[in-house]
Formats: sequence, structure tokens, C-alpha cells
Amino acid sequence: MAVGSTEIPQGKLVIRNIGLLLSGDLKQPILEGDTIVAVDGIITAVGKERDCNIDAADRLVDAKGTTVSPGLIDSHVHPVFGDWTPRQNQLGWMDSFLHGGVTTMISAGEVHLPGRPRDVVGLKALAITAQRAFSAFRPGGVKIIAGAPVVEKEMTEEDFRDLAAAGVGMLGEIGLGGVKTAPEAKKMVGWARTYGLQSTIHTGGPSIPGSGLIDADVVLEADPDVIGHINGGHTALPLDQVRCLCERCRRAVEIVHNGNELAALHALRTTMELDQAERIILGTDSPAGSGVQPLGILRLLALLSSFGNVPAELAFCFATGNTARVRRLNCGLIEPGRAADFVIMDRAQHSAGRDLLDSVHKGDLPGIGMVIIDGLIRIGRSRNTPPATVTPEIVKQ
Ligand SMILES: [Zn+2]
Repeated sequence: MAVGSTEIPQGKLVIRNIGLLLSGDLKQPILEGDTIVAVDGIITAVGKERDCNIDAADRLVDAKGTTVSPGLIDSHVHPVFGDWTPRQNQLGWMDSFLHGGVTTMISAGEVHLPGRPRDVVGLKALAITAQRAFSAFRPGGVKIIAGAPVVEKEMTEEDFRDLAAAGVGMLGEIGLGGVKTAPEAKKMVGWARTYGLQSTIHTGGPSIPGSGLIDADVVLEADPDVIGHINGGHTALPLDQVRCLCERCRRAVEIVHNGNELAALHALRTTMELDQAERIILGTDSPAGSGVQPLGILRLLALLSSFGNVPAELAFCFATGNTARVRRLNCGLIEPGRAADFVIMDRAQHSAGRDLLDSVHKGDLPGIGMVIIDGLIRIGRSRNTPPATVTPEIVKQ
């Protein structure tokens, strides 16, 4: 199991000779420039090499003309403790996601914990413990934002105030616990908003025996910050309800890998038609019955770009800048002041695509050559993606 440190590495990182720079920002998804400089884990300069101060680098990477994107963010995972999941009894799943370019994961509830407490004191204690534990533990360097309580009917406004005061920043998916009806969900979302906790809801049919249906009427009345897995997890709502949610709710549209792919494409097309691409964020909803998907975010990007006919550079924004903005994270964009979290990748060997973006638009996965978190090189060539045609070179480390 990977041992994670939460220490921010000191020193200066320079990435030069970048062939394509993906910003993560829908307004300008491709940046001019071939160089990124980061100091003590934070980006300080982006642009042409001649305009950046690249002297005295502690770590120097030659990207060899390949593509750099912000690290990918998985908006919907279900961690438990450590780098272990009881759902498929697997060790090291988060480290495997790092090899899929994921540098940040967001908990939608630590719902798989064996014996998960459902009483109010217990569920609050679990959320606080998960928040603390994952603040102090980063498998492979991946940032796990956890501590997402699964709300129950017995909770009062005071419980939300306590959670916020204890450092809990979000709710788990509403609907995984005993709160199922619109009035109950609306009340909990309101309390969460009052105390600065972000809210999300389980949209669609039950995931596993014991969980329930949340339909469009409940989501609309509850009005959570994130329409959690709008394409179901796994069972989707009828497509007219998916459309209705895109049209009538203004909140984030979360599309997940472990959902209904037809509904995913319907949600994508509807949101794009509404000219509201900034609402689209991506998650895997793993671990799940379908297993653990280390390449889930990349696969979802490729699905949406190819079948959904969205330019690949925009699809990358869904999994980076959009999610960072919705989730209020200091990553997901390549600009000064942001966390130095990067994926360096290239067209996979023998892809029919002529370059990285074309290969993703044709439905292929990119080959990852390096992942950097907080300015530190965490892995070289990925063990999970198909091999990149060209990989970056570490000139100095
Ligand atoms: Zn769910």
C-alpha cells in the first residue's frame, strides 16, 4: 500500500518543451506557451520559455513536445479508510487512480464502511474521523477530500452547525441514508447551505439493495449544489427527467462512469444545447458493483468526446477546471496561484488519432507519461494506461 505524505514539497519545478498546454478553463481550453514554473507546490508562471524564469530549478522536466493538463479530479468516490475498499475488497485502488491521471478525489460518502453507524452521534463522528484521516493521508500523493456524512432524518440544524465547526465541508449523497422525500432533503440542503456545507444528492434508482429511488421532482425541490450522478448510479431516471433536471435546475450536472451511458450522453447534449457546459463535472462513483476503475475519468472523457462529439480539450475541462470551481478547490486550472498538479500525456501508441486531442475524440485513451502533485513527480509512465507514444524526461530531480 502506498504511504502518503501531506507535506507540500519545497523547491522549484520547471516543465519545459510542452507541445500542448490544456488549461482546464472552458473559456480558453488551450494555452499559448511551452513552459510551467512552480515553486513550493504552487504554479508561479505559465508561458513561453523565454518569458519565464527557469533558472535554478530543483526539478526539471523536459516534456518532449507532449501534452500537459491539470491533474484530473474525480468528483464522486466512496472511500472508507486508508487505500482500501471493502466494496470489492481491494487494496491500493487510489494509487491505481493516480496511474489514471487522478490527483484529487472527492468523497460522496464513506458509505461502504462495514458496520457504518446510522445514529446521529455515530455518523457525525465517522464524518469527522474520515475528514481528519484523509487530510493526513494521501496515497501516492493523491488528495482525498473526505468526511461526507450520510444524513439521516433525526438530524437537527445544530448537527449541521457542529459538523461545519468540526471542519466537515460537505454532505454525502442525500438518499443513501434514511432521508428520501423532497421536504426532508430540502430541509437538510438548506441547513447545509446555512453552514457552508456543500450538498449532493443520489439521482436515480437504488444502487444496491437498501438504497432508494430519487426522482427529478425530489432533486428539483431539494435543490442540492450537485445533481449527483445525473446518469444514475447505475439506474438512470427516464431521459425526459434527465432533460428536465438539466433545464430546470441550475446546479452542477455530475456525470459518472458507473452510470447509464445513454443517460450520460443525453445529459451532456442537453447541457451543451443550453450553452451551460460550465455545469458539467465528472466522477466515477467507484468503488461500486462494477468494480474499481482506475481509468474511469479518462474513459468518461473519451466517451463524452467521441460519442458526444465534444472537442477533447473541452472534455478535459469537465474533469479539471469545472470540478475545481464547483467544489471550490485550488487545483484544476493551469494558472499562477493554483496547485501544481499535472498530468503529462501523449497519444497512445498506434492510436488512429493524429495527435492527443484527435485520439481522445476518436474514443481512445491517452497514454500517461508522468503525474505531478504539488510540484513533485509522483509517477513516470503509467502502469495502467496504454503506453504513450512519447514520454517526458526527468532532466533533474
Ligand atoms: Zn449514488
